Amino acid sequence: MKTVSDYFGCLVFDDRVMKGCLSADVYASLRKTIDEGAKLDASVANAVAGAMKDWAVANGATHYTHWFQPLTGITAEKHDSFISPAPDGGVIMDFSGKELIKGEPDASSFPSGGLRATFEARGYTAWDPTSYAFIKGKTLCIPTAFCSYGGEALDKKTPLLRSMEALNRQAMRILKLFGNTDVKCVKTSVGPEQEYFLVPKELYEQRKDLIYTGRTLFGAKPPKGQEMDDHYFGVIKPRVAAYMEDLNQELWKLGILAKTEHNEVAPAQHELAPIYSTTNIATDHNQLTMEIMQKVAAKHGLVCLLHEKPFAGVNGSGKHNNWSIATDTGVNLLSPGETPYQNAQFLLFLCAVIKAVDDYQDLLRLSVATAGNDHRLGANEAPPAVVSIFLGDELTAILDAIENDKPYEGTKKTTMKLGVDVLPRFARDTTDRNRTSPFAFTGNKFEFRMLGSSNSIACANIMLNAAVAESLKIYADRLEGAEDFETALHAMIQKTIKDHKRILFNGNGYDGAWLEEAAKRGLCNYRTTPDCMPHLLDQKNVDMLTAHKVFTVPELHSRCEIMLENYCKTVVIEANTMVDMARKQILPAVAGFTADLAEDVAAKKAAVPGASCGYETGLIGKLSVLTDQIADKTDELERAVLELKNTCTVEEESYAIRDTVLPKMAALRAVADEAETLTAEEVWPFPTYGELLFGVR
Ligand code: ADP
Ligand code: MG
Repeated sequence: MKTVSDYFGCLVFDDRVMKGCLSADVYASLRKTIDEGAKLDASVANAVAGAMKDWAVANGATHYTHWFQPLTGITAEKHDSFISPAPDGGVIMDFSGKELIKGEPDASSFPSGGLRATFEARGYTAWDPTSYAFIKGKTLCIPTAFCSYGGEALDKKTPLLRSMEALNRQAMRILKLFGNTDVKCVKTSVGPEQEYFLVPKELYEQRKDLIYTGRTLFGAKPPKGQEMDDHYFGVIKPRVAAYMEDLNQELWKLGILAKTEHNEVAPAQHELAPIYSTTNIATDHNQLTMEIMQKVAAKHGLVCLLHEKPFAGVNGSGKHNNWSIATDTGVNLLSPGETPYQNAQFLLFLCAVIKAVDDYQDLLRLSVATAGNDHRLGANEAPPAVVSIFLGDELTAILDAIENDKPYEGTKKTTMKLGVDVLPRFARDTTDRNRTSPFAFTGNKFEFRMLGSSNSIACANIMLNAAVAESLKIYADRLEGAEDFETALHAMIQKTIKDHKRILFNGNGYDGAWLEEAAKRGLCNYRTTPDCMPHLLDQKNVDMLTAHKVFTVPELHSRCEIMLENYCKTVVIEANTMVDMARKQILPAVAGFTADLAEDVAAKKAAVPGASCGYETGLIGKLSVLTDQIADKTDELERAVLELKNTCTVEEESYAIRDTVLPKMAALRAVADEAETLTAEEVWPFPTYGELLFGVR
């Protein structure tokens, strides 16, 4: 039997393959491009393309595609076969350097938020050599960025790469100040923990809401939910275990470091975490992981739900973005060091993150905003919509001591002078099973926990990298001009703590009192997508993101528009699905059941003259009232959707959806769910929550 190490990465054109099939010169040039971003010349590109094609064909591929991440949030591909006609009537398999480096998909149906109208009609894809090509099915997939001919980004990868570059530029300035001359570059790494649900395919197929929207729009609470806490880390059912095993194998073949798997809090909910990798690779891998999760599920007669809130009443799914910054020499800059200088450097990077998160709370919040995630954030199961940082008691006490020039009461009483004194050793905070913090320091990395399960991690990391680059820039500007480095450093760290400590919160984020306290501290609390998204265009945010060349002004306008449009379309589809299900499935079922009851009453009275029929008539009464209510609320919802036509801008439409459509959806659901609890199981027109949540055995 083949072992994992035999087949790990067998579908990836990785360094091992490159070394084996490229000449030493070509390999060296390509490596320089991958590591340092050097431009690849045409002859090298041709050699790489030829080798890549030979390898892909030998591994069963017939096609290639430029694989990219448009703003729809999923990945896109257009397949071209390698075949090229030969004079003798046959074909040869052909792939040139030009085809590797640049592609021109017909991009007109991808959302551009007006960008292509303003600039150039066509878009092109450009190879990202830092992310290895791989084979999916019979296709060689080449990870690419997607831009308009005007150079405007039409995807998520381009700004992500720019944000990594921005952070690299500023971090290098800081490292130089600390005398690190051997470092060539700094990169951020991410390990995204991915949550998901598995439901039986045959039940999924009977629910239009799951099919059209990815979440249930109706469904009464089952007798059992997650209250027993018996699912989290519980024994994995054989059918799920078989799925996970198959999934791991597929991911490993693609070189994805799937590492941890376990059950999550809600019934039918599970989690998968890979070992962390460089951010743009982690992003590509997470997109692939989500795709493979769904594919493998189908093979097992299951459907993998990646929606943030597939079921009301039980936890939704998120994604934890574990993030750190490291040098090419292998130093994690968020790891406390051994010497006074290393400690000072650690504290500087820590403070840069604290300042970034406080200054750009709004950007972090909106980077995870979608119609789906609005159901989670602040719903007492996920972090609140307020961004705050958890540092743990010990690190908080250290910062407190630095801020106030007072002795740190930890292991040894010392007043610390940065760059001179050794930072006291502190343990990784054991209270960090506090899962309520949106942004937690976990010893040598930060865990950003607000991401929704279906979000691309690109968006959150773009904002995080850019905001931290800005803090580092401000620090570098100050320190490079300082007369005395240590004094300036000490003063700067102290000032950061003083100015930004409002963002630090170690308590329970689910507590209502925290929201009051957060408001007093002046922290943002944007509960929904329409509340936060327009802040993308706030002057301070535009200034920062354009200064670091992460986005251009037109790109920001287009993104804001696309995200709001996406929110509106998502909810409108949900509303239309509800109207459809209510009219064509729920009302006929409830009305039919009520009519049957009435017939039963008549039959019973005929058989037993004077029979009371109290149960039946009571139920008929209740169901008749509910039937009318369902019908009325369906009409109201339909009208609310029609009235959206009267809005002039997408922003206005998003407010109307937030304020009228969503509340009307909730109202319709409430009466329909009540009717479900009173209607015979065998006439209910689609599978219930109980069947969906406990159906995988
Ligand atoms: P948990 O959050 O469940 O305690 P871990 O903290 O061990 O689990 O890891 C969660 C994720 O964080 C994994 O994907 C892991 O690879 C990733 N991770 C660990 N160290 C780092 C790091 N230095 N930078 C980024 N991600 C990391
Ligand atoms: Mg974690």
